[in-house]
Amino acid sequence: MMDLLEKIHQTLEYGGICDHCLGRLFAKRSFGLTNEQRGHALRVVHALAYNIPFASYERDTCWVCNDLLESISGWAQRVAVTLKDIEYNTFVIGTRTPPMMTESEEMIWSDLSLEHPEPLKSEMNREVGKAVSALTGKKGDPKNPEIAAVLNIADDRVELQIAPIYFFGWYLKYERGIPQTHWDCRACRGNGCEKCSFTGKQYPTSVEELIADAPKRIFAADCGILHGAGREDIDALMIGTGRPFVMEMQNPKIRNVNLQELESAINASAAPRVQVKLERWSNKKTVEMLKSHKGHKTYRILVDIDSSVSLETVRNAVSKLKGVLIHQRTPERVAHRRVDLVRERYVVDIECLGMESSLYRIEVTGEGGLYIKELVSGDGGRTTPSLAELLAVSARVVALDVVQVDGIAGNLP
Ligand SMILES: [Zn+2]
Ligand SMILES: [Zn+2]
Repeated sequence: MMDLLEKIHQTLEYGGICDHCLGRLFAKRSFGLTNEQRGHALRVVHALAYNIPFASYERDTCWVCNDLLESISGWAQRVAVTLKDIEYNTFVIGTRTPPMMTESEEMIWSDLSLEHPEPLKSEMNREVGKAVSALTGKKGDPKNPEIAAVLNIADDRVELQIAPIYFFGWYLKYERGIPQTHWDCRACRGNGCEKCSFTGKQYPTSVEELIADAPKRIFAADCGILHGAGREDIDALMIGTGRPFVMEMQNPKIRNVNLQELESAINASAAPRVQVKLERWSNKKTVEMLKSHKGHKTYRILVDIDSSVSLETVRNAVSKLKGVLIHQRTPERVAHRRVDLVRERYVVDIECLGMESSLYRIEVTGEGGLYIKELVSGDGGRTTPSLAELLAVSARVVALDVVQVDGIAGNLP
């Protein structure tokens, strides 16, 4: 008890300190009190113990918080106004305290060797949070907030961080020449130049942009990021069951959207090039799983084989690739973007279905990451074994479509 009294005495010797800041130093003492009530009580105890007239605690501006804690309801009002036109159910308050304030309170903590002081920002977060809750009727939820309202004390403004919205689905791509995600123009690196008609883009559109266009409007979001389970080549179609993806809408001002209506809106705007089937709302964890998943993929390809090799010989060579481990050095065509290393992937299944005019129709299922074009061409000996190697003639994929991406839906939450 003496120890406590001495500490209070020392604290008051520093000069004007508000009841909030005084009470917070001893935040672990007693229960059911606000810091302000606790601070007031400690001051009364001090006046009684030292027999000091209470009026002599002259009240200057608090040297710790600069009277910040007098403005709790003011900050709460500002948060409520900032959130007025945004849809959300849960929020959390954060406080960015100026370094001077943090230094002042840490100085007292160490001078008095206090054991359990509460930091200024945590009182602000809690008290402003309660006040915002009362004003808006929304729930404070530090674990799963849809919005974080950060009180930037030094700049005297409220900053919002809005949690993204994620949705999971499958996409189909019916037109060649469209990349999965937007690429910066190679000539200007996205700044805009004559080559790209000042769009900054290498390709006029992408699956990502085609899908994100409608949701950007619907969620009043800044942008949409496509997370695909792997990607097909720019000149490959994505047909059959489609490719799983999660779309992440950033900074959405609207959250209450019907998934079915969202799907229709996307399909209306992306048709006829891209189509989606939306399955459910999703989350960041699913994005991570999607990115790491190595599913089997089935491709249907058309192959041009030099010289007059018989269908029988081709069938025979193709069957020799079935169940075989393929060693692939990073293909020539992507070598400028990726590290040169040897990748090992199995051909799970492969079959020559027959001829179409002078070309061979082949269906191949490979482990995720198997380079199909190189499996056929051999990539100048960088991929082995290959169809070209087995036939001892050159072979080349002229069309490639993804038929199926396996084993993904069942493994995602
Ligand atoms: Zn204070
Ligand atoms: Zn350009």
